Amino acid sequence: MAQDTLQRPLGAATLHAPASAAQSVAGTLRGWIFLTLVHLACLGVFFVGFSWLALGVAVAFYLLRMFGITAGYHRYFSHRAYKTSRPFQFLLALLGCAAAQQGPLWWAAHHRHHHQHSDKPEDIHSPRQRGFWHAHIAWITEDKVTETPLAKIPDFARYPELRWLNQYHMLVPVALGAVCYALGALLHLWGFDTHGMQMLIWGFFVSTVALYHGTFTINSLSHVFGSQRYSTGDYSRNNLWLALITLGEGWHNNHHYYATSARQGFYWWEIDLSYYGLWLLSKVGLVWDLKQIPAHLKARHRQI
Ligand SMILES: [Zn+2]
Ligand SMILES: [Zn+2]
Repeated sequence: MAQDTLQRPLGAATLHAPASAAQSVAGTLRGWIFLTLVHLACLGVFFVGFSWLALGVAVAFYLLRMFGITAGYHRYFSHRAYKTSRPFQFLLALLGCAAAQQGPLWWAAHHRHHHQHSDKPEDIHSPRQRGFWHAHIAWITEDKVTETPLAKIPDFARYPELRWLNQYHMLVPVALGAVCYALGALLHLWGFDTHGMQMLIWGFFVSTVALYHGTFTINSLSHVFGSQRYSTGDYSRNNLWLALITLGEGWHNNHHYYATSARQGFYWWEIDLSYYGLWLLSKVGLVWDLKQIPAHLKARHRQI
């Protein structure tokens, strides 16, 4: 009952009149224009030059925001693989927003849909259904995924601060861009070898585009290349290289097999930097109850 009354007003927010063909094309076009501009901004490196300082900030923001996506948006908001406090939950959501991949409720709700229909015709991003390009990036621009299907995420949609952030998610990357510019300008004033525009292009745009394609490989490549340890009924794969660039998400067959595990590298040799980060956070009490795969399920390897 409580669940029902909770969902109705939230679900109602996602209802809208069916988009006309023209609206649909306009929505898709908007998505492409945004992505194209962010990519084009990276060409600014030819005008602002290079500095190790700017590259270092780009790498740092890549790693930090990838952690926001993997440990926050994915393992926490999509799969509830561990517990945390309400303030830290909000911090994880902010970190995820900084990656400019939409809000936490949007991201997690669509990801839950992917797990429900992996590689089936309903899957919103399966390279097996509509090809690599669609699974990698094109699906994001489709008008039909613009809305947040709140009914898929009532457990987090009940927090007003998350609903607010989900709606105004773009404020965070815009603020991060401003911080990058200010940081570069300040360092320039102090005599360092960088400046505002250089830091904005490298620290924000280059880092964000690298982060996009790093994250997107999990929707595209990790359903195509790699090994399959478990029978999951889909094409998910385990791939070390993808695990390295995504801080552990490349163990995607493991993940599709047991999605609520906070640890996606099931064996010690399967490097999973997001899990190591979560483990450290658990040691200082910021997160707890990190879920693990039960031993008998972990041992149930696919018979070849
Ligand atoms: Zn998948
Ligand atoms: Zn998942």
